[in-house]
Amino acid sequence: MMRLPLFDFRAPRTIDEAARILDGEGTSAMVLAGGTDLLPNMKRRQQVPQTLISLRHVEGLSGAQLDHSSSRLGACLTLTEIAKDRRFRNGCSALWQAASLVATPHIRNMATLGGNICLDTRCLYYDQNYEWRKAIDFCKKKDGEICWVATGSSKCMAVSSTDTAPALIALGASVRLQSSSGEREILLADLYNNDGMNYITRQPNEILTEIRLGSLKAWKSTYWKLRRRGSFDFPVRCSCCKDRQATRQHGFRHELAQEGHCCVRDERPAGTPRRRYERRAAAVDAISSRRDLIGTTYLGSARQPLFNCGGN
Ligand SMILES: Cc1cc2nc3c(=O)[nH]c(=O)nc-3n(C[C@H](O)[C@H](O)[C@H](O)COP(=O)(O)OP(=O)(O)OC[C@H]3O[C@@H](n4cnc5c(N)ncnc54)[C@H](O)[C@@H]3O)c2cc1C
Ligand code: SF4
Repeated sequence: MMRLPLFDFRAPRTIDEAARILDGEGTSAMVLAGGTDLLPNMKRRQQVPQTLISLRHVEGLSGAQLDHSSSRLGACLTLTEIAKDRRFRNGCSALWQAASLVATPHIRNMATLGGNICLDTRCLYYDQNYEWRKAIDFCKKKDGEICWVATGSSKCMAVSSTDTAPALIALGASVRLQSSSGEREILLADLYNNDGMNYITRQPNEILTEIRLGSLKAWKSTYWKLRRRGSFDFPVRCSCCKDRQATRQHGFRHELAQEGHCCVRDERPAGTPRRRYERRAAAVDAISSRRDLIGTTYLGSARQPLFNCGGN
């Protein structure tokens, strides 16, 4: 049985208090949301924070305000809340689909949107217990010197496996980050680095407080996920696009607009969710069906020399 290491537990009530504690504790503290990623990582000693700062009781981090002109989603909104809320099917159905496809119902009940966005990167040589990793003398991402995926590489190739980030990037989302010294808002696409170790641009003393979306009126969006096991699994590849609809006398029709956005995350080394296409035609061509997704994955794998991200 794998046990959690000892840690101090803090349960602040306000975001200011949480930011103050995080700032005071420095890099030895980590934020705990649903814990579905962080706690297993702690059991495997991949992350060993001395202090956990729970966001569960922090006011103002849950709930969603969905509006025609702009929307605000609290970082502690659970994936089940998104999956069950019919309002998400209007305009941001890609997010609704992505959240519904994460893990299992039990995990989605605990897992939060903020945690999914900040999810650690994955690699077959890293997502193992302590003894397994010790037997290979660890790796560059944690405690070791070498990358077992690409021994000459200076960069870690672990892969981002978040389902909701590609959907939110395609929807044009931005995120608010708060620390004890202030607040900033950045595009979600800018939150990620193409490096499996240094995968996120969030500073260690910053808390992701909310996700913001612009007007989704008359937009349609979709999310496709390819995974090895149909019941539940991390994405091998996923694609999402948003497309504007135009009203005609007899209802909706798709319009050849130039505003479509597409985001693709594939199993490339150090794969991060990234915005691929700006033009709607290319975006829709990229993911018109699951068959296309399998086809492009197959083509991609033919020229992909590395494989470092299996299923669960
Ligand atoms: C069996 C299994 C299957 C899974 N399948 C999938 C899958 O198919 N798709 C998928 O996307 N994920 C999957 N996951 C990963 C995980 O469950 C989800 O990504 C989940 O959404 C993480 O959210 P959480 O609230 O539990 O995050 P936590 O575990 O609490 O935190 C994750 C990380 O984010 C940081 N963090 C959390 N909230 C904030 C915040 N507000 N501000 C700053 N930092 C924050 C934490 O410090 C930690 O580093 C799976 C996990 C398991 C165990
Ligand atoms: S890609 Fe290399 S450095 Fe990164 S986790 Fe895997 S083995 Fe470790």
